[in-house]
Amino acid sequence: STLYSVPDWGKGVFSVNANGLLEVAPPNVPGAPKVPLMSILAGIKDRGMDLPVVLRIENLIDLQVSHLNQSFAAAIEAHDYQNVYRGVFPIKVNQQSQVIEEIARFGARYNHGLEAGSKAELMIAMATLTDPGSMIICNGYKDAEFVDLGLRARQLGFECFFVVETPAELDLILERAELLQVEPRIGFRAKLSTQVEGHWSEDSGDRSLFGLSANQIVNMVDRLRDTGHLEWLRLLHFHLGSQIPNIRDIRTGVAEAVRYYNELVAEGAAMGYLDLGGGLAVNYEGGDTNYTLAEYCYDVVESVAATLAEGVPHPVLISESGRATVADSSILLFNTLDVTTFEPGPIRTVTEDDAEAIQKLGEIQANVEVANAHQSFTDAIYYRDDMRESFQLGTTTLRQRALAENLCLDVMQQVKHLLPQMRRIPKELEALHQDLADIYYANFSVFQSLPDTWAMDQVFPVVPIHRLNEEPTREAILADLTCDCDGKIDLFVGGHSTLPVHSLVDGEDYVFGVFMVGAYQETLGDLHNLFGDTNVVSVRINEGGNFEIERELQGDTVEDVLSYVEYTPAGLTETFRKTAERAVRSGLIKPSQRREIVEQFRESLRGYTYYEH
Ligand code: PLP
Repeated sequence: STLYSVPDWGKGVFSVNANGLLEVAPPNVPGAPKVPLMSILAGIKDRGMDLPVVLRIENLIDLQVSHLNQSFAAAIEAHDYQNVYRGVFPIKVNQQSQVIEEIARFGARYNHGLEAGSKAELMIAMATLTDPGSMIICNGYKDAEFVDLGLRARQLGFECFFVVETPAELDLILERAELLQVEPRIGFRAKLSTQVEGHWSEDSGDRSLFGLSANQIVNMVDRLRDTGHLEWLRLLHFHLGSQIPNIRDIRTGVAEAVRYYNELVAEGAAMGYLDLGGGLAVNYEGGDTNYTLAEYCYDVVESVAATLAEGVPHPVLISESGRATVADSSILLFNTLDVTTFEPGPIRTVTEDDAEAIQKLGEIQANVEVANAHQSFTDAIYYRDDMRESFQLGTTTLRQRALAENLCLDVMQQVKHLLPQMRRIPKELEALHQDLADIYYANFSVFQSLPDTWAMDQVFPVVPIHRLNEEPTREAILADLTCDCDGKIDLFVGGHSTLPVHSLVDGEDYVFGVFMVGAYQETLGDLHNLFGDTNVVSVRINEGGNFEIERELQGDTVEDVLSYVEYTPAGLTETFRKTAERAVRSGLIKPSQRREIVEQFRESLRGYTYYEH
């Protein structure tokens, strides 16, 4: 089980049992036995849904919402902080209705609210949160309609804040508030000079796209004072970036933000709320950050308390943690379709009639040992390339080229197996494992389901969810169904470029799980090669270890994805019918065959976009 670093990223929630099955055991379900993911998958298949599927475990959303709120509560108590924590979930991180509804439903006990970055997201928040005192934070560019919706939310009693991102927005808010006669709650998003490390660091620093400079903030305070509305300024917001690896950067950012907060209080603003934005990181590999959730909360509360000026009342602390709230809860499951190996095929005996380069390759192949491994490798490549060149010049045959390539591959494999015995691995041989790794073709699209592996080199834990009591005997990378050279996973936990896997067994599915995909992946996925949304199944594990399928969402059909690119199924069928009729007229097919062909076309329109058995 340590092979796939399960204990490092699984946090005790995921583990491997004696039968080699990957299991889940949400710690917030007391006494529940562990449930193998293969059992859940069998239940899904029995109900007629197939792979690939996103499996969402609702208990894990609840678990993280509790963790976040309880960790802040503990930090607040430890520091004798004189106010409360209120979390808001940023809808953009996973907008799927069952996720948002679960956060709203379970989060109600903690008063957990939502963060909206657009009109559509604000409307989700207004129609999902049912407690009138719930908090809604409005970020992003706002037009009059966005502002009006937020003012309506205020009228209904929501704790709705407009976070001003640009100076022009303030005038719009003042104008609409006057018109609708509603008192807005305003926040300023400060552009901090603190810069953070990591993939998503561009939200901080002078050149960050959003936020107000010190000078803009001063001008806007003056504008509010001049219009007699400084009391509407209630909140300071900052966001340093997502997945911040270093707690020191977070502390520095918090301290800088609190200086702004102190100054706004000194200017006479009512204030009362400090919004820390996102950034709380997730441990995808087990060592991504130098802090835990508890340490994050502890350090943030301590920094705020220590930096607030004498006499300034402690503000309500808000955070917009997205990734940390939902990443754990979703797993992408897919099956393997085929394998390409880089093993030599059967090699016939080299004879005097073969090309000279082949004679050399035959000699090398018969004599590989530790002492000459490096030399054998470079020589084999040299003679193989020699044969490839001859082939290009037309001076040798396809069969001679095939023999040369096969001999060379055999040498490479022999050398690979000798690597562990070599005292020093020469640079040229460092990538040999990777060059000879199998390619496991799997039933998914990187672009639809794991866009951050492609766009950001994000590493997600990838693990076969069964056969984990067998030694994996192969090394592989995974290729998806798109015919795109980026449609692959070749970076794994621990920085490895290949994944240990098991040989396929005839007639048996080999199923991989990609873990921690609940944040951003579903939302950012696209339709490359017209592979659509996968099936999604949301389960709840209850006491007794039963799981209940709470929601099933059928993935896109071919018809669905074609309509996204402006085809109409009716129009396509009509054109296709005509093409088939022409084939009848010209005698290529019989009318009864036409019926069959058109019927199949129509059925395929209703089919899943992924590989079906
Ligand atoms: N708040 C804002 C304004 C953001 O831009 C983001 C994402 O980058 C978040 C919150 C969520 O951040 P995270 O997923 O790191 O918690």
